[in-house]
Amino acid sequence: MTRPQLAHSLADALPELAHEEPGTRFENPQLVALNEPLAAELGLDVAWLRSRDGLRFLTGAYGGHAMAYAGHQFGQFVPLLGDGRALLLGDIGGREIQLKGSGLTVFSRRGTDGVGAVGPMLREHLVSAFMHAAGVPTTRSLAVLTTGGTVIRQQGAVPGGIVVRVARSHLRVGTVQYAATQSEELTQKVVQAAGFMDAETMLAEVTRRQFDLVARWMRIGFVHGVMNTDNVALSGETIDYGPCAFTERFDGAASFSSIDRHGRYAFGNQPNIIAWNMARLAEALYPLLGAEKVDAYVKTVQATWDEAWARWIGADLDGLNAAADITTYNREHGIGGTPGPVFIPRNHMLQEAIDAAEQHGDYDKYHALLAAVSDPYNEKAGPEWMARPEGQLPYVTFCGT
Ligand code: AMP
Ligand code: MG
Repeated sequence: MTRPQLAHSLADALPELAHEEPGTRFENPQLVALNEPLAAELGLDVAWLRSRDGLRFLTGAYGGHAMAYAGHQFGQFVPLLGDGRALLLGDIGGREIQLKGSGLTVFSRRGTDGVGAVGPMLREHLVSAFMHAAGVPTTRSLAVLTTGGTVIRQQGAVPGGIVVRVARSHLRVGTVQYAATQSEELTQKVVQAAGFMDAETMLAEVTRRQFDLVARWMRIGFVHGVMNTDNVALSGETIDYGPCAFTERFDGAASFSSIDRHGRYAFGNQPNIIAWNMARLAEALYPLLGAEKVDAYVKTVQATWDEAWARWIGADLDGLNAAADITTYNREHGIGGTPGPVFIPRNHMLQEAIDAAEQHGDYDKYHALLAAVSDPYNEKAGPEWMARPEGQLPYVTFCGT
């Protein structure tokens, strides 16, 4: 097979936001994880992906686009963020392929390197595989590669890595916020590019998707860790797994990210924060909506949240609160009439697996854990100990930037 022909639908629809990039040629890239079923879904030839040319494609050597966006980071508005270390290769079969960690772009800020450590990329690959298998809307990961270079991070010099991310759309709340700083016309174009009839529909639908998503995260103990508005996808897919972790207890204060010092993105704050983020989306759409429609929207917010909460938590709240381990509770009680997963990526298990890979190039633990959490309802997909709670041990994540 030869190189697949990708479309450039997003860059074509929104040239104002797309900056063409030549891409970076890495010396010695190696594929360390490949999601073969996803490759098949996308119509990509696995043997070709593993070839020299495939590796070039997967590391961005043929170029792509870096997209502009803005965003509230920890509550502060930053008018221009953009893909500072990401590259949109294009789309195929209604799915976008984007690299993360693939080198400098026009949006890389001074002092940043455009690359990432392989550890956070392995985390994204595995946790998103779990989320997908557990039925949680999410971006997916086609592959992880080491670049052949090293990067300096908290732990010292570690291998550089790239995650090949697949999403229905990479448009974020922050994309709308960026467009709003430019013009009403551009904001309107983003609404259309995201597949919505008008701004009103978009606001209602994104709110519904995001509230449903966050209530679902709460049901499985997922702590995203960095719910900045640039990390909130209009598609309702979970995106940006850098500092994420799982809490075993239904503990509102559970917070793991080293940079989230005040617990803004703690487990129990996620519902408030997603509502706050939706208010920022409403603000960005205000010129298209007008005061009346915004008022009408505000009146619907609580009911939309209540519906999501009732669907995913509802009558189980007391049981979840009392449980020593959310996953064990879900296994015993099911989640809304469906089974709860046996395996989830528990924090220390995952960290050990990532450390062995990152520090020693030993991927055995990583692949064993990946196999279990990719088939999370099947008891036979992993050893018995992998399903056991860890006891809510202290844990810190680094976003790897
Ligand atoms: P994230 O925390 O991954 O959502 O990134 C937030 C913003 O910082 C985005 O605009 C990224 O492109 C940018 N960024 C994060 N890490 C790097 C890096 N190593 N080099 C350049 N830009 C980065
Ligand atoms: Mg991000």
